[in-house]
Amino acid sequence: MTPFSYRRPASSMDASALAALKGHKLLGGGTNLVDLMRKGVEHPTTLVDVTALSSEIIEMEGGGLLIGAAARNSAVAAHPLVRAHYPMLSRAILAGASAQIRNMATVAGNLLQRTRCAYFNDPAASRCNKRQPGSGCDALEGFNRYHAILGGSPGCIATHPSDMCVALMALDAQIHLAGSAGTRIVPLADFYRLPGDSPHLETTMEIGELITAVEIPASAMGQRSAYRKVRDRASYAFALVSVAAGVSMQDGTIEDIRLAFGGIAPRPWRALQAEAALRGGPATPEAMAAAMDAELAVARPAAGNAFKVELLKRTTAAVLLELTGDRS
Ligand SMILES: Cc1cc2nc3c(=O)[nH]c(=O)nc-3n(C[C@H](O)[C@H](O)[C@H](O)COP(=O)(O)OP(=O)(O)OC[C@H]3O[C@@H](n4cnc5c(N)ncnc54)[C@H](O)[C@@H]3O)c2cc1C
Repeated sequence: MTPFSYRRPASSMDASALAALKGHKLLGGGTNLVDLMRKGVEHPTTLVDVTALSSEIIEMEGGGLLIGAAARNSAVAAHPLVRAHYPMLSRAILAGASAQIRNMATVAGNLLQRTRCAYFNDPAASRCNKRQPGSGCDALEGFNRYHAILGGSPGCIATHPSDMCVALMALDAQIHLAGSAGTRIVPLADFYRLPGDSPHLETTMEIGELITAVEIPASAMGQRSAYRKVRDRASYAFALVSVAAGVSMQDGTIEDIRLAFGGIAPRPWRALQAEAALRGGPATPEAMAAAMDAELAVARPAAGNAFKVELLKRTTAAVLLELTGDRS
């Protein structure tokens, strides 16, 4: 590991000033960043510890939650307001990693964790455009069972690994940022970039900006919601596909719906086409199949992951049938 120094600023403004300096990297729980430093993927000269920033979880006026960037994943999953109003978020977090890792991992770190693509994580022997722009992508013709079927590019088919962020995407979360130019709020839907021809640029954050909080608006769909993750092992494994869904029903019709997928794209994938197809219609298997066909019409699986198309369709249908079934 390359030697580095350590700073622990007390305010987000101090942290932002440090984050803008060359070689400086923000440190949350370190569960991803320190791994990447050990592997030689990341080489920061200074770690800027931001775990002293807010970790509060506050109910906002008019409903909704504001979650401090330094809140630990386990604290968010166990919080009574999260469990009561956003069970899909609690379930998504608990579907990820292990209890020990969730105790260390922060909300901001989870949002910005890097891909688990084996080629990205192997600087000694693999080509990766995300790690080294212009070097090529060994995943395209390599072992791509875990890779993207939507949103990838000829330069990168890595997936975003987070479970938590899939639920946040379905819940219309907003990201609070602070930087030298002040503060701003970005919808999560606009926070991640697709790889295109610059896969090393993963978010719309500016240099020196940091995440200070995540806001989740009040939602009637939060309560009738679910998160389901399909993986190769029953625990301690990343998603092959995952589904976060929330619905509100009126007289047997889907009044409104939120649907997001994980494990299948370079960012948590909001299924807007499937939502539009299902909104206002019956909750039948036929309607769900047609909605998923519309969403996945642009899917471009690689040689090793074509199974994800059918797996995602079936997982989504199973979750929606569970949520829309008779609850009397
Ligand atoms: C064995 C293992 C299994 C795992 N399994 C899963 C899984 O199944 N599902 C899942 O979702 N996750 C899984 N994870 C990933 C885990 O959730 C992440 O490592 C964790 O969420 C990262 O949070 P952290 O606070 O430790 O981030 P760090 O490692 O500290 O940082 C990650 C990134 O976030 C940046 N950062 C941190 N704080 C801020 C801030 N305030 N503003 C801007 N940038 C910031 C850092 O600079 C760094 O780039 C697993 C991890 C391990 C090691």
